[in-house]
Amino acid sequence: MSDQAVDVLVLGGGVIGVCSAYYLARAGRRVTLVDMGAVGSACSYGNAGLIDPSHCMPLAAPGVISKALRWMFNADSPFYIRPRWDKDLFHWLWLFRQYCTLAHVDAAAPQLYRLGMASLDLYRELAGLPGMDFALTQKGFLLLYATLGGLTQAAREAKLLQRYGVKVQMLDRPQVRGMLSCVSDQVCGGMFLPHDAHIIPDRFVRGLAQVLAAHMGVSVCPFTEVKALVPEAGRVRVVKTSMGDIKPNAVVLAGGSWSAELLRPLGVRLPLQPAKGYSVSIARPAHLPDFPLLLTEAKVCVTPMADRLRFAGTLELTGFDFSIRERRVAALLRAVKQYLVRVDTSERLETWAGLRPCTPDGVPIIGRAPGFENLIVATGHAMIGMRTGTGTGKLVAQMLTGEILFMDPAPFRLERFF
Ligand SMILES: Cc1cc2nc3c(=O)[nH]c(=O)nc-3n(C[C@H](O)[C@H](O)[C@H](O)COP(=O)(O)OP(=O)(O)OC[C@H]3O[C@@H](n4cnc5c(N)ncnc54)[C@H](O)[C@@H]3O)c2cc1C
Repeated sequence: MSDQAVDVLVLGGGVIGVCSAYYLARAGRRVTLVDMGAVGSACSYGNAGLIDPSHCMPLAAPGVISKALRWMFNADSPFYIRPRWDKDLFHWLWLFRQYCTLAHVDAAAPQLYRLGMASLDLYRELAGLPGMDFALTQKGFLLLYATLGGLTQAAREAKLLQRYGVKVQMLDRPQVRGMLSCVSDQVCGGMFLPHDAHIIPDRFVRGLAQVLAAHMGVSVCPFTEVKALVPEAGRVRVVKTSMGDIKPNAVVLAGGSWSAELLRPLGVRLPLQPAKGYSVSIARPAHLPDFPLLLTEAKVCVTPMADRLRFAGTLELTGFDFSIRERRVAALLRAVKQYLVRVDTSERLETWAGLRPCTPDGVPIIGRAPGFENLIVATGHAMIGMRTGTGTGKLVAQMLTGEILFMDPAPFRLERFF
């Protein structure tokens, strides 16, 4: 790949990279996509696969800080920060605290809802492409509550969601039982989001990468690591990779949690923290319905995926650490028993950990890197990268081709942190 001239270089083969490559190729651009590993092998692989636009409250919201402080000192809780001296982490936490306000929720949630709904429409379109089979299922999303406090908070949240135009149904215990026969006695109610959907995430990302390579003329290059972006006069002039130098007209940085490190030498500071989550897949029990669940207080998602059932959760700010801590995985599975009966989690088919690229306001970054006219940054999707991946890819392509943007990208600009 020595000294190759390339039109658009997409860096990263996760959901954001493959979707950006798809909409760029569809708009007639010549695209090369590189990934340091196999395509779709990082955070976009073992996640919960929820395409849940209705669940649009950002991670930074009122009450989150006090809950996080309580959880931090409990090794079995869904949230953990490894104590360490890390200037970037302190800065991130300081920013996160500023964003935990109702004003921020009111500003961010409608934008996230809009991006999510647009993305769901795009997933429907992509499901019709020959060769794409990622089991898109739109049967809603059921949130379960095991405490009255949780249910009361949910009723308040439901009012907010309705204000943003989201369709929500609050359910009492018998109504939940009517939808889910294996619910435990501890569950006191639920919230149903009928518009939400789910997919098999790795099938989507790898399937789209195959479509790109086989039918859209995209050069897909796995195991090609970007070592540096070399700037010159307000542009990225050369991209140094493990396979040689590339001279692109434009670059899309979709490197997930690794994106901040690639931008740092250019003097662009990305407030991004990798946040580890786990998932465990088991053989799917026949009595579970074909829609996903959230075990709300425990922050565990339960998603049916063809013949598997996947449990996903926890958020650990432990840096670039991929280790699977059995104690935390066991705690995640113990939480399942609190909400569901007749679900045996002892026979695991797969246990996985991935790093979510988290911004401090819970809103992704989609836009030009300040000072670089040919560099678009598309990262920071935290817990919503699958939900908003297609819409993000479309926005990225529209920004680069100068087409009319399907939504105002101002809420996603990187400059909001400066
Ligand atoms: C447990 C868990 C459950 C989740 N559940 C959901 C869910 O239900 N719904 C949802 O919407 N989201 C969910 N998420 C979040 C979602 O998985 C992420 O937001 C999304 O996968 C991020 O995609 P990405 O493309 O930005 O990053 P990634 O998938 O991490 O892709 C980035 C890619 O860039 C490549 N890369 C990085 N640096 C370089 C380099 N220097 N050179 C070359 N390549 C490089 C990496 O190898 C990687 O493949 C979940 C996450 C976790 C951990």
